[in-house]
Amino acid sequence: MKKIRLILGDQLNSKHSWFNTQNDEVIYLMAEMRQETDYVKHHIQKVVAFFLSMRNFKEELTAKGHQFLYFKISDKDNPHKLEKIVQKAIEKSGAKKFEYQLPDEYRLDEQLKKICSDLDIETEAFDTEHFFTKREELKDFFEGKKQLIMENFYRMMRKKHDIMMVNGQPDGGKWNFDHNNRKKWPGSPEIPHERGFRKDISSILEEIKKAGVNTFGNIASDNFNWPTSRADSLSVLNYFCKKLLVHFGDFQDAMHTKEKYLFHSRLSFAMNSKMLSPKEVIEKVLEYYYEHTDEIDISQVEGFVRQILGWREYMRGIYWKEMPNYRKLNELDNNNPLPDFFWTGKTKMNCLSHAIGQSLDDAYAHHIQRLMIIGNYALLTQTNPDEVDNWYLGVYIDAIEWVEITNTRGMSQFADGGIVATKPYVSSANYINKMGNYCKECQYSHTKKTGEDACPFNALYWNFLDEKKDYFKNNQRMAMMLNLLKKKDLTELQQLKDRAADVISNPDKF
Ligand SMILES: Cc1cc2nc3c(=O)[nH]c(=O)nc-3n(C[C@H](O)[C@H](O)[C@H](O)COP(=O)(O)OP(=O)(O)OC[C@H]3O[C@@H](n4cnc5c(N)ncnc54)[C@H](O)[C@@H]3O)c2cc1C
Ligand code: SF4
Repeated sequence: MKKIRLILGDQLNSKHSWFNTQNDEVIYLMAEMRQETDYVKHHIQKVVAFFLSMRNFKEELTAKGHQFLYFKISDKDNPHKLEKIVQKAIEKSGAKKFEYQLPDEYRLDEQLKKICSDLDIETEAFDTEHFFTKREELKDFFEGKKQLIMENFYRMMRKKHDIMMVNGQPDGGKWNFDHNNRKKWPGSPEIPHERGFRKDISSILEEIKKAGVNTFGNIASDNFNWPTSRADSLSVLNYFCKKLLVHFGDFQDAMHTKEKYLFHSRLSFAMNSKMLSPKEVIEKVLEYYYEHTDEIDISQVEGFVRQILGWREYMRGIYWKEMPNYRKLNELDNNNPLPDFFWTGKTKMNCLSHAIGQSLDDAYAHHIQRLMIIGNYALLTQTNPDEVDNWYLGVYIDAIEWVEITNTRGMSQFADGGIVATKPYVSSANYINKMGNYCKECQYSHTKKTGEDACPFNALYWNFLDEKKDYFKNNQRMAMMLNLLKKKDLTELQQLKDRAADVISNPDKF
């Protein structure tokens, strides 16, 4: 029976069991669609990375004998809407069955259910065979529990999948080595250059431009640096094991003006597009570690495994547990607009200028830049989470809603009222200065709280605590901060609040 099998842009899993056998009756359908480029404004590097990876995936599998119907962004007969594309493919091929892999986005899941209910041929949905967990697994695990604590989920995952376990106990005698992972990077050890590709992407860039896709961010047509095939992705993974793993954990939270990537893996795009599976990434990293235990400490490796086996799967589970309501949550009732400098990086605040500038230049910022610089500022200025979400969803190479929204609206903006984080991730300049060198080169003083040259984060921090104190009054983890607030001299507090009001109303002045 002739079949159409749909593959979405983030379903580039060439190890999927669909491809175990070659079958002339099966046509794989892929499309570069305006529906996907336009649901939010994306960074140009993100659009290029997805389309190039899709094209390479098709080439790789065509060479293995599989048949494809592929719509390029520039094809005149591309309908750009999923329902029309599916309809067209069925008509063209005379297929009697339509199959798809379960999408990771709620929006696409709903759209595909509707498409299937409108079709008069047989339909079937398949697992993507990518994640460790099924969509509902986290929900079932936390059934009847008050708090969805990531650490509990992570320990269950370690045991269930027998990862870093020795005789039923965690390897190294501890589940978590997080306290080892909070070092500032002092200029050494030397950071190897990232595994780069220097691809020439001028022709696809031209196609995207000609198609009129509205994007933002910067790109160099002769110097594109992201993995866009399985072979590239494997090479980034190898590079990480050999060059970066040895210090990954130590400097996971560090920030530096001269080093964008530090010891981070840059594997999120390869995994989120499914060119690599989380299982093979963890296996490869552990294999390398166990062969090099004399050089690499367990704390470097556990930190990495926790991000992928713990946080990544946890965020996906939260997404499927809480959607579609999640995307509307604004528990702190934050409604200020996103400042214009998020689109230009032009601000005198050195930490933001670097972290946003880098995001616009490279479609990348590491976790602490996303959380404790950009997200911290957005939360302290009480910015509307819809606007914050749209920016994060557009700007990062790895941003797909299931992992973006849970991190942004949940972990970073506390707009979910504490489903993901037990307290808001807010800080004054103190933390930013402790973890990086931004403050040294800033025109503001990180120690000053008031006055023209005082760091805006300081005023914003106390103002946030004061404005949200009623909301957090029963949160034990906020008790210490709120006690300090109570002890603040009222005149000083008023000065801080006046300065914060100025920063919030005139963000582009600072
Ligand atoms: C506000 C905010 C928004 C974010 N948006 C995204 C997003 O859209 N897409 C995305 O993949 N990650 C997101 N993250 C998580 C994290 O910042 C990125 O996964 C990471 O920076 C990617 O770079 P890397 O591959 O070098 O990561 P590394 O530091 O090398 O970490 C290894 C891997 O662990 C996983 N990981 C680490 N932290 C998380 C996390 N909190 N949630 C899920 N997976 C994690 C990623 O797959 C990552 O590739 C966000 C974090 C914050 C605070
Ligand atoms: S002084 Fe304030 S604005 Fe400047 S880099 Fe430090 S935290 Fe950022």
